[in-house]
Amino acid sequence: MSVPARDQESNPFEAMLSRFRVAAEKLGLEDGLFEILSRPDTEITVSIPVQLDSGGYQVFTGYRVQHNRAMGPAKGGIRFAPDVNIDEVRALAAWMTWKCAVVHVPFGGGKGGVICDPSKLSQREIEALTRRYTAALCDFIGPEQDVPAPDIGTNEQIMAWIMDTYSMHHGRTVTSCVTGKPLGLGGSLGRVAATGRGLMTILKVAAERFEIPLNNSKALVQGFGNVGGTAAQLLHEMGIKVVSVSDIHTAVYNENGLDIPALLEHTKATRSLVGAPNCDEVPRESQLELPCDFLIPAATENQINSKNAGRIQAKLIIEGANGPTTDNADRILEERGIHCVPDILANAGGVTVSYFEWVQDRLGYFWSEDLVNERQDEIMIRAFGEVADMAEKNNTNLRIGAYMLGIERVAHYTRLRGLYA
Ligand code: GLU
Repeated sequence: MSVPARDQESNPFEAMLSRFRVAAEKLGLEDGLFEILSRPDTEITVSIPVQLDSGGYQVFTGYRVQHNRAMGPAKGGIRFAPDVNIDEVRALAAWMTWKCAVVHVPFGGGKGGVICDPSKLSQREIEALTRRYTAALCDFIGPEQDVPAPDIGTNEQIMAWIMDTYSMHHGRTVTSCVTGKPLGLGGSLGRVAATGRGLMTILKVAAERFEIPLNNSKALVQGFGNVGGTAAQLLHEMGIKVVSVSDIHTAVYNENGLDIPALLEHTKATRSLVGAPNCDEVPRESQLELPCDFLIPAATENQINSKNAGRIQAKLIIEGANGPTTDNADRILEERGIHCVPDILANAGGVTVSYFEWVQDRLGYFWSEDLVNERQDEIMIRAFGEVADMAEKNNTNLRIGAYMLGIERVAHYTRLRGLYA
């Protein structure tokens, strides 16, 4: 597949492929499967005309990429952001394939995106955009085809509109066509906090495996949305000092630990960390280089790259975002002995609980939050052990270990299904 000539430091699909190549080679993956698994199955581009509140029209561009469906329906979020592009959606879809395989849930990988700035649109405009995008994709998504979920710029309300639009087209309520829905409309207890919770589960098992003490440790979180905000809150509750958090406007720092509940209140009220109490504002560009034991990048791609990887001070990185570390940065971190738990394992708590939501919708029977959390932990802890063992056995880092585990599983099921010709 031809990718524009941007290097892997800025092109996420190239970044995905460079790891895929290394892992495939280590596995001795046959050429045919290499070809099949390195390309997306299906790519859909749609134009989304929306009548704005001003009375005028704007046509937005939306994508849905289904990377692979060997293990089940495609699964993955929908991103509403101004810088969405097809290479990014392709990479995110492929990462979902490996992520679902790493935690061994019966899904393939997909991802959607719409080029728009939700902060500049009214609720009515966002609803119109969501419904028209869903209508355009109606033949391609569904409980057994492709199941979307939230990602950057989307939330429970948007998932409810997707469910309603899909249901109207099918003449019946189909809750399992999308996950991340509100409670009472087929949503699952524990889904909103699932990604942040999963990061903490992984942080604890990884810290134990690499013998990094939690006592008196310090953490740094980039991003203060659903994933970063929940992670910061849980770290705070665990007694780990969160010394810095950031959002798209600023980064804040307090070497004695931030008052995370107060910062969450502040951002709820003002939608920004600017002016937050009891902390200093620091440049966002150098936030990741501040002293800490644990670093949780929970914002967007390419944040840890060849420019700053040499100055990262953390002992352990737990990737909350998808693709936050470039391939060049991986090499620098490895040389410096900094462990990195990759996105396709670390942030898989979200899709794990999405799987539980889909199961509950199809059963019509809903679980307690304790049961959701218990089953999530069981899956994440098992996956961490399998990835760490794979990495150790092959004398490689956790990222390549995770890719190897994911690719091996998808390749296995692809061989079992055989090729329909
Ligand atoms: N957008 C989330 C991710 O990147 C969740 C996907 C899902 O729940 O399907 O993992």
